Amino acid sequence: MGLLALALVLSGCQKGGGVDAKRLSEADKDANSWLTTGRTYSEQRFSPLNLVNADNVAKLGVAWHYQFDTDRGQEATPLMVDGVLYTTTAWSKVFAFDAKTGKLLWSFDPKVDGKRGFSACCDVANRGVAVWGGKVFSAALDGRLIALDAKTGSVIWTTATVDQSKPYTITGAPRVVKGKVLIGNGGSEYGVRGYVSAYDADTGKLVWRFYTTPNPEGKADGAASDQVLNDKAKATWGGKEPASGGGGTVWDSIVYDPELNQIYFGAGNGNPWSSSNRSDGKSDNLFVSSIVAVDADTGAYKWHFQVTPNDNWDFDADQHIMQADLTIDGKPRKVVMQASKNGYFYVIDRTNGAFISAKNYVPTTWATGVDPKTGRPIENPDARYRLKPALVAPSPSGGHNWQPMAYDPTQGLVFIPAMEDGFQFGNDNHYVYREGGWNLGIDTALMALPDDKAQVAAIKASLKGKLVAWDPVKQEARWTAPHPTYWNGGVLATGGGLVFEGTAEGKFFAYSSKDGRELWSYDAGNGIVAAPSTYSIDGEQYVAVMVGYGGAAPLFQHWSTPGQPRLPGRLLVFKLGGTDAVPAYPKALPTKIDVTGVVAPGDPKSGFALFHQNCVVCHSSNASGRYLPDLKASPISRTAADFKTVVLDGALQSHGMVSFAKFLSPAQAEDIRAYIIQEARYAQAGK
Ligand code: CA
Repeated sequence: MGLLALALVLSGCQKGGGVDAKRLSEADKDANSWLTTGRTYSEQRFSPLNLVNADNVAKLGVAWHYQFDTDRGQEATPLMVDGVLYTTTAWSKVFAFDAKTGKLLWSFDPKVDGKRGFSACCDVANRGVAVWGGKVFSAALDGRLIALDAKTGSVIWTTATVDQSKPYTITGAPRVVKGKVLIGNGGSEYGVRGYVSAYDADTGKLVWRFYTTPNPEGKADGAASDQVLNDKAKATWGGKEPASGGGGTVWDSIVYDPELNQIYFGAGNGNPWSSSNRSDGKSDNLFVSSIVAVDADTGAYKWHFQVTPNDNWDFDADQHIMQADLTIDGKPRKVVMQASKNGYFYVIDRTNGAFISAKNYVPTTWATGVDPKTGRPIENPDARYRLKPALVAPSPSGGHNWQPMAYDPTQGLVFIPAMEDGFQFGNDNHYVYREGGWNLGIDTALMALPDDKAQVAAIKASLKGKLVAWDPVKQEARWTAPHPTYWNGGVLATGGGLVFEGTAEGKFFAYSSKDGRELWSYDAGNGIVAAPSTYSIDGEQYVAVMVGYGGAAPLFQHWSTPGQPRLPGRLLVFKLGGTDAVPAYPKALPTKIDVTGVVAPGDPKSGFALFHQNCVVCHSSNASGRYLPDLKASPISRTAADFKTVVLDGALQSHGMVSFAKFLSPAQAEDIRAYIIQEARYAQAGK
């Protein structure tokens, strides 16, 4: 019996999901695999593989591909463990392939209720799985953490990690650390309270939890965060309990440091965005917009660094946190690095949270710099938009968002998928918290583009996407590769001297990591926002990338996106000499808008304000609906009866379009329809 059990354990370690603590902590030596979302615990996303390199990358072709059943955004980084490639798609579906041949081994659909789409600020995306001890861990949009059998995809256990009555969602990838599965959640725009949890990988039982904001009811949670929230955080909320959970959600970056046995995670924006509508408009509001370090075993607080004190601009600090050992002023330093949404690149001492340096990697108007001693931003007072609106750069999309960076230690460069843009902020002086809905506390009508065509052209011209090769020691760019588009893909760096990145317009590029020269590109025919990964089997190196445009910016910032139709997601896997024939996507027909004879007696002016308060985050400002349905072209907008069926009665809730009856009266719905028809008439007339 003992021998048989041992044999089973050994075979389990060799095929499909055989990952344990030792193997994961030594992932850097395992160049052929991609064991965890950031490849190693350092999350540098650098693979030493060099079979594909600057000399031969021109011969890269598709080895195999797979087309998925969803046309929503694809954000996952595929893992490759023991010959099996694991990935996830929109709506939290999980897939396992033979990594060499592309044969589908199994798939799992958690059957997320479509209504949950309403609670997802930034698309129904998923950023991938964790693999450990023969299991695959996946977090579903509705907050379930699910353990699957790595060989079959069958469910081993399921745990609800969030209060199902609240608008929490999960899009991030779990991480496994010493037998515990770590996961956070999103929802700061809606007003939830952020936290990160650790679950036992064998049983799914909660081990510890750390909340990022004080309990709104003023009581203890019985959680790892209780003491520090009481000692440090509570006093930073201006003596005013937030009407909501305060935000600070941990929706992406969760990183383990084996050397110091610490977890580093990023906490999101405050809720509402406007800090004067949140607390007193001047207190720091810990741990909103902060990088926090906790003990990996207990979740006990170690240190924090608040990136944007008293966040007023949706400056989440959830962006990719990576660890590195750098030599700074002649001394070795253990650091974490983040190209934060607020436009500054931070280098922080990870032993104690001490600030080392920060420099803006994109233009910033909200601050002129960061105080070299304290690490606090030197703010431009006008950017707080207390008395009048202010154009603020970066926008809520950030100088850099969740799209992963990569760090090539041989070049000493961090590759940042960066963005330049701005956003018109104005305070909502009549703000009222709305349970379950978006709660921003700002004047959302300012999201609309102005009527002036020259101004619109200027706004569009100010948007830029670029790949920046950043020297984190000198805090300066060594090279920059500009993209014609905004909101591009995550990055992979390799020992072949290459940096891979996809773009919104659907190109997949390989650049020379040394100087940014473009060495190769492939037209995927559909936008890419995910980060690639790489692995090798039988002496051949593969590069895998999820294709499918989506995420926050395409949903509401329609002018920033390339205006492609929504197309089915694909997984593309490349190798040298790959000859797989990938069918071209069908050509999209232009949207036809004809509202001749349509009657909409509501008030379009009131409808404009209501639309930008209720609908803008999915159907885009100015009702342009480039990513989710264009309501100007929709037959549902033609009659009051059809519009009511969807908007108030929830006929399309399984698609994420829930009933707005608790936010809108029938007369208000008709005002919105009148506004949509007015925009449709302008569009029909070519205005
Ligand atoms: Ca946010």
